[in-house]
This record gives sequence, structure tokens and C-alpha cells, in this order.
Amino acid sequence: MKQQVLILGAGFAGMWAALSAARLTDLHDRGDIEITVLAPQPELRIRPRFYEAGVESFAAPLLPLFAATGVKFIAGSAREIDVASKQVWYHTTQDQLAVINYDKLVLATGSHINPIFPGAKEHAFDVDQLESAARLEKHLNQLAQQPASEARNTVVVCGGGFTGIELATELPARLRAILGDAAPIRVVIADRSPVVGGRYSEELCHVIKQASDELGVEWMLNAEIEAIDERGVTFKNGDFIASNTVVMTMGVQASPLTAQIPATRDAQGRLHVDQSLKVVGQPDIYATGDVAYARTDEKGNTALMTCQHAIMLGRFVGNNVAADMLGVAPLPYSQVNYVTCLDLGGWGAVYTEGWDQVVKSTRAEAKKIKIAITSELIYPPKAEKEVAFAAADPLAPFV
Ligand SMILES: Cc1cc2nc3c(=O)[nH]c(=O)nc-3n(C[C@H](O)[C@H](O)[C@H](O)COP(=O)(O)OP(=O)(O)OC[C@H]3O[C@@H](n4cnc5c(N)ncnc54)[C@H](O)[C@@H]3O)c2cc1C
Repeated sequence: MKQQVLILGAGFAGMWAALSAARLTDLHDRGDIEITVLAPQPELRIRPRFYEAGVESFAAPLLPLFAATGVKFIAGSAREIDVASKQVWYHTTQDQLAVINYDKLVLATGSHINPIFPGAKEHAFDVDQLESAARLEKHLNQLAQQPASEARNTVVVCGGGFTGIELATELPARLRAILGDAAPIRVVIADRSPVVGGRYSEELCHVIKQASDELGVEWMLNAEIEAIDERGVTFKNGDFIASNTVVMTMGVQASPLTAQIPATRDAQGRLHVDQSLKVVGQPDIYATGDVAYARTDEKGNTALMTCQHAIMLGRFVGNNVAADMLGVAPLPYSQVNYVTCLDLGGWGAVYTEGWDQVVKSTRAEAKKIKIAITSELIYPPKAEKEVAFAAADPLAPFV
């Protein structure tokens, strides 16, 4: 019987983990090691584009790529990880319970938004998963059929982080296309921070403010949300904004499967991993992407919940789980470079380099970089073994 590397999740981290593990076993000519991916769909869902229109097209097929690289795919959703017996129980697409054994497990089940405010689950939208982003898009497209009102014309984006900013700055153009140029549209970002873009570098904040002002996107600062209902958002200071479209973008948590692994987790539920990306204290379990709390460099920086990190974490974890099976040395995960490219809708974009977020380009020039990243760089490689394995090499250049 073949030895089994089981990867849970086919996102950025899971897909690259599978390709990288397949690459190393192929290099060592070890056909007795099977690489299996278990995920609900055999597609890479391009989450960084979920704030854009046309969301249902943002998924790339993975079966041809897996077939070309010898990766086995099982459609299903993991429910229970039995660490002692090295088994994973999962629901098949026919909703039947099935079990699979592993020798080494890679957890790559990503993250999800956690709608913590009263009423958010029932009344708010989000752009976190393909289905929920598609629900928002459908709702926006139907706004014109609702009677004109302040609530119809107003969108409140809760959370002024990158996702909130990208969505909010995209919305004025989308709302005008839906409601017409004459409609008094209003887009508000509600954030608890006292300044626009509070957690970012001063020069990045300045650009975000400039773009927001030019696009007419309002910021409601020091905003503590009390509750959301069918009429809009109520804040703790008593303020109320009437809105039929409230979108949550904050409160992201690692996949709940992380809680089934006896190990240390951070406040977002991410598993602490060592430099080979093995879960600390678990000899046969690795974590990667949004479920991993990993050190990126010697300066104390840690990986963020971004696909920039998930891609590299995936390439390293795949290499290292295969190295573990093969009895060869792992490659310590390291990702010194950090860039950001923030879409600012009709204004353009802003591109920064380094952890101190030095602004390198803005407007149309940065937008070109953004488009290259989100429509090419982060998509799966060509479904050809040589191309895919070359890209999956953890030491191949990335950003
Ligand atoms: C709107 C938005 C904008 C973003 N913008 C950016 C950006 O500009 N730049 C950037 O770098 N990052 C961005 N991100 C973050 C980025 O998308 C994530 O960090 C990245 O997707 C994490 O990759 P992952 O592989 O860990 O998880 P995911 O991509 O979420 O993949 C998780 C995989 O696990 C599967 N899965 C989940 N549960 C189970 C289960 N129980 N059993 C089996 N499989 C399961 C899922 O189906 C999926 O295949 C954005 C995210 C969002 C939502």
C-alpha cells in the first residue's frame, strides 16, 4: 500500500502544497508515496477578487493540473481529524460520511469571516467566500428594483482593512452603473480606528484618504458597531445609518478544524508551526496558509492571512512534508519580502514594498501591477508537469 500525504484544502496553500510535495517525490522517483487533496471543489477560488463584479468567474479548475502532476483529488469536506488514529472523517459530495487514513497530514483549510455582531449573520453580507460574495453581487444588481430611498442608496462597509477599502472604493462605480448617475449614492466605511487606514504606514494612509475623498467614500471613525438589523447599522454611541446593504469585512478566523489539533493557537485560531511548518508538538501534522502562525524572517515578522504568504507557505510545506516521508532535510520557511497592492477602484491602486509599507507607485501605474497580480500571478500554473513543478519549487523566485 502507498504511503499517504493528505492535504486538506485546495486553496492557495493547499494547491501549492500538493504540487510541491508531488515535485519532491517525483525528483526522488518515489511512486510509492501518494499525494491526495481533499476539498469541497476541485478549483482554486480566487478570494482576492471577491470584491469585484463577476465573482462567479473567479475560480480556476484544478483537475487537469492535478492529473498532469500525479496528485489525487477527493471531493469532500473534512469534519473530524482523529490525531491518535491518523484518520480524517469527511462528508462526501453525496453527504455521506467517509474516512481516509494518512501518514502525514497538511491542514490548509483557510479562514472565514466570523460575524460577531448581533444581527450580522441574518442581515449583513460579506465577500469572504464565493457563495457569499455572489449573494452580495446579486443583491446589488437588484437594488434598482427597490423603491428609491436613503437605505437603498447607502452601502455600509464594516471594517476599514484592505478588504473593506478595496470593496468600498470599487462600489461608487458599481452603484452608479446599477442605480444611474443621478442617484444620491453613499458608501461609508465604518471602522473603530481614530484615523483613516489606522493600522497602515502614514504614507499609505495618506493615499487611502486621498483616493477615498476623490471617490466620495466616507469614513466613519471611532465607530463601534452595536447591532445590525433589516433597517441598517446601529453604533454604540447611538448613531444609526439606514442601509439595505451592510457588508462585514472584519473578524477573520482560521478554519475551525484547527481546534481539533491539540496544539497552541493564536488569537485568530492559527496553529503555531516550526520552521519546517510542522505543527509544534505534532510529529505528523503540518499547517499552512491562513491556518498557520509562522515566522517569516529573523526580524520577528510573522505570516499574514494573505495569499502572498499562503502561496509560499504552500510551496514550503509541500516540500517539507514530502522531505519528511523521504527522510531528507526540510527547507526552513523564509519569506523576507513583503509587498502590498491595494485596489482603489476608479482612483487606481497603490503599491508598497517592505513591512514599513513604503509607497512605490500609485494610480494607473499601480493598477497595472494589481491587475497583473490578481489576474495572472496568483492563478494556478499551466497544467503541464514541468511548468507546474518548476513553479512549485520553494526556492523559485516569487515576490
Ligand atoms: C475579499 C478578499 C480580498 C483579499 N485580498 C487579498 C489581496 O489583495 N492580497 C492577498 O495576498 N490576500 C488577499 N486576501 C486573502 C487571501 O485570499 C487568503 O489569505 C488566501 O486565500 C489564503 O489561502 P489558503 O489556501 O490558506 O485558504 P483559502 O484560499 O481560503 O483555501 C481554503 C481551502 O480549504 C477548503 N476547505 C475549507 N474547509 C474545508 C474542509 N472542512 N475540508 C476540506 N477542505 C476545506 C476550501 O474549500 C479551500 O479549497 C483576500 C481575501 C478576501 C476574502
